[in-house]
Amino acid sequence: DPRLVRIKESIRTIPDFPKAGILFRDVTTLLLDHKAFKDTIDIFVERYKHMKIDAVVGIEARGFIFGPPIALGIGAKFVPHRKPKKLPGPVVAEEYTLEYGTDRIEMHEGAVQSGERCLVVDDLIATGGTLAAGIRLIERVGAEVVECACLIELSELKGREKLMGKPLFVLVDFE
Ligand code: IMP
Repeated sequence: DPRLVRIKESIRTIPDFPKAGILFRDVTTLLLDHKAFKDTIDIFVERYKHMKIDAVVGIEARGFIFGPPIALGIGAKFVPHRKPKKLPGPVVAEEYTLEYGTDRIEMHEGAVQSGERCLVVDDLIATGGTLAAGIRLIERVGAEVVECACLIELSELKGREKLMGKPLFVLVDFE
């Protein structure tokens, strides 16, 4: 797909953020390029519009940038997976392990219903821990994860092997 060249070029790389030795892939520069941003959403919408997706689940924070326009484009609802203590109503939660310690994501009870078909969206997959927690949270309430979608994959980290067999679709690979 020729659109992918401009999409990849529009992503900025910042060394040593948030700490020394990390090459941070910054999608905010893609958002500044209207064509690259629009093409990104169009590619996802083209892929998912006939897959009978009921819910697009976006992971905080950058899943909230790409998830909602995809949901609108394919005629699905949007459901946020949030960091702890942000959602005001009753929640279901999943813990996941980080390099040091653990983190947790939460979803409003009833936002996704048993049997619904979900697409999980984030900006980037690294080790896969965040997306795996998102998958577990959806499956806990009896819904189905049809696929995970990210703009960027850091394929060397082999995060896609942690997704319990769920398909992963990405636009750009940074090795
Ligand atoms: P994982 O759980 O190791 O796969 O890390 C993925 C999560 O960390 C996603 O929510 C990403 O937004 C964030 N993340 C990790 N590395 C980067 C990066 O280089 N740029 C932007 N986000 C990143």
